[in-house]
Amino acid sequence: MENRWENNQSIMDIFGTNVFNDKAMRQYLPKSIYYELRKTIEGRKELDPAIADVVAAAIKKWAIEKGATHYTHWFQPLTGFTAEKHDSFITPPKEDGSVLMEFSGKDLIKGEPDASSFPSGGLRATFEARGYTTWDCTSPAFVREDAAGAILCIPTAFCSFTGEALDQKTPLLRSMEAVQEQALRVLRLFGNTTATKVIPSIGAEQEYFLIDRQKYLQRKDLIYTGRTLFGAMPPKGQELDDHYFGTIRQRIAGYMRRVNEELWKMGVPAKTQHNEVAPAQHELAPIYAEANVAADHNQIMMQTLKRVASQQGLVCLLHEKPFAGVNGSGKHNNWSLTTDDGQNLLDPGRRPHENRQFLLILACILKAVDTHADLLRESAANVGNDHRLGAHEAPPAIISVFLGEQLDDVLQQLLRTGNATHSSRGGTLHTGVKTLPDVIKDATDRNRTSPFAFTSNKFEFRMVGSRDSISPSTVVINTIVAEALADACDILEKADNFDAALHDLTIQYIAEHQKIIFGGNGYSEEWVNEAERRGLPNLRSMIDAIPALVTEKSVRMFERFRVFSESELHSRAEIKYESYNKALNIEALTMIDMAVKQIIPAVIGYTGTLSGIIQSMNAIHVDAGVQSDLLTEIGSLLSEANGAVRILRSVAEEAQGIADNKTRAHFYHDYVLPAMEALRRPIDRLEMLVDKEVWPMPSYGDLLFEI
Ligand code: ADP
Ligand code: MG
Repeated sequence: MENRWENNQSIMDIFGTNVFNDKAMRQYLPKSIYYELRKTIEGRKELDPAIADVVAAAIKKWAIEKGATHYTHWFQPLTGFTAEKHDSFITPPKEDGSVLMEFSGKDLIKGEPDASSFPSGGLRATFEARGYTTWDCTSPAFVREDAAGAILCIPTAFCSFTGEALDQKTPLLRSMEAVQEQALRVLRLFGNTTATKVIPSIGAEQEYFLIDRQKYLQRKDLIYTGRTLFGAMPPKGQELDDHYFGTIRQRIAGYMRRVNEELWKMGVPAKTQHNEVAPAQHELAPIYAEANVAADHNQIMMQTLKRVASQQGLVCLLHEKPFAGVNGSGKHNNWSLTTDDGQNLLDPGRRPHENRQFLLILACILKAVDTHADLLRESAANVGNDHRLGAHEAPPAIISVFLGEQLDDVLQQLLRTGNATHSSRGGTLHTGVKTLPDVIKDATDRNRTSPFAFTSNKFEFRMVGSRDSISPSTVVINTIVAEALADACDILEKADNFDAALHDLTIQYIAEHQKIIFGGNGYSEEWVNEAERRGLPNLRSMIDAIPALVTEKSVRMFERFRVFSESELHSRAEIKYESYNKALNIEALTMIDMAVKQIIPAVIGYTGTLSGIIQSMNAIHVDAGVQSDLLTEIGSLLSEANGAVRILRSVAEEAQGIADNKTRAHFYHDYVLPAMEALRRPIDRLEMLVDKEVWPMPSYGDLLFEI
């Protein structure tokens, strides 16, 4: 494929070239249609089906000029991945054997994938297979180039025949509307008459591992489960801190360059890249965008990271914990609210203590997070994240909010005296070297251990798993904030004395919910105890968190803002239990397979070699004490492993027999997981004893350091 960038073109030349963006719309659409469509994109008018044919023809012309042969409705079902089905543009051949390129308004706005093949968590029986994808014009169509050629991708939402959401996008769009409506009420209270839109903005920082494809192919665990199920720690780990922000190796640099180029073409504003804490771990962050577009960008980013890796003899691992004992990967969801008249509602300004609108919104966010800490935790729950939350350098499973010294101090002033009179300043950082400039410090240091941290003008939710869509957590943040803002507006709109009511309500919320604020070391054991004392939930496992979706307070809130119906919530809970069970079943079976067919036979072979050596040494009366000791140790670990395989096999079978998904999930958690650990223990020890030449797969060291 032609590489335009290498022909001395700048980022500006390639950025967005494969996106049907505003520029392309102006160029390809008749003026009147362009303005009609813009109204819909900006949420001012429902889509007029009458213009769909014209828009479709324009998109088709544009896409075919980009080399597209196929189009697809691109959607995000609840499998955790994106889905697509490609249709070529060609029509049935005419009599003379030629074909035309066709793409109608109906093809653009509606698709009909077989919904029964996607998870619905009981929302439909298999025979009720109908589901529809519908065009989401707020996220631009794009052309993706890959080995299949060039494909026009049309972002769509996916709903059942009866209108229930079967995807990530539908609730996200609903929650964006909810928070917009409530935030506008707040703005009006403060006299703002110009803003017509409030947009939740999201910047999703993406962590990932890169390993060599040849080595990957020798590990069934990576192939089937995305993570290693066995593996002894290498002599060197991440203890030297020499990887984080280190110089990027050339092979990786080449990879990142290609990823950036692909992303820029598709309009994803890839911005920062660096090595992460663990060896072979990296991070990529885009510039933030409207939540819906950002969620799509993040999906495009994950796909691109994987695709480019496979083109370059690499594999990109997006699992939350590919290697036990090594840092896991997350996704930071940076969230803020911005208006179409240019305000960021989370910007405290230079004098936060005087910024009453900001303080009210902040107090509402504290209330929201404290009231729905369990839901927020749940929004980051996935099978892989269970190995990450609370371990190593990852946020603990306890939700708390970090505000930083400046805001902590303002809130304390309010609570103590009812008035905040000053805001602390950052001051100057004196370097002590004449030739280095002194720099103005931020008012607040950072806290890397907080799961929900205020970072200058946005909140950063750090619990999300690296593989997950950012939609579920964004849906929760948008909706819980919408609820708190709505409750506040209900009171303030009725108040006779707005200033007094505002003052009292802000302080009341802060006082009632200050227990959620924590600025200390979130990774410490003391915090776990302290959080328990404060009554904050600590939902350690995914299956402990799932019930948060369907509590009475959750159902009430989501129904109130029409983000989820009760049955949609139940279906999502069901799908999550199911996904937990499926993942655990595959992991257990993969472990058994690797142990029985690869590792145990290799170790038996090695013991054969060893006993041969011992025999010949004995025959010539040479002391074989060391060899015999080794043989005994290996023998006892081998029998431990063999016993563990038997137990794992039996509990995995028993789990299969449990019909109810929730009960089965608890069985996997309580019995199958420990049986997996019991098998891993002797095998990881064997790996340290047996000759590397005979070990049937690459080690952690090979995977992490030799790339
Ligand atoms: P960090 O704060 O992690 O050091 P940045 O300030 O560069 O790094 O932001 C990290 C991510 O947050 C980026 O994706 C960035 O685009 C995004 N971001 C920055 N400002 C906002 C905002 N107001 N709303 C949402 N996301 C934002
Ligand atoms: Mg960050």
